Amino acid sequence: MDGTRLRRKVFHFDSPAEAYTADPAVVCCFDHRINLTVGKFLQRKAILHPDMIIVAGGAKTLAFSPQRF
Ligand SMILES: [Zn+2]
Repeated sequence: MDGTRLRRKVFHFDSPAEAYTADPAVVCCFDHRINLTVGKFLQRKAILHPDMIIVAGGAKTLAFSPQRF
């Protein structure tokens, strides 16, 4: 079966296509309860255009071995 027939556009947004200089990449947990705090922290650190890497557990997921969970 052709997967394209199953797709349905639900949102349209045109983002700028030109190259940009990003601020730091930020690894963060996906828990929405910390969004406001993360936003305030990044603003305080003058990180206005972060490239967000959102994973469950945030950076500790990358820092610890699976045996430590
Ligand atoms: Zn979390």
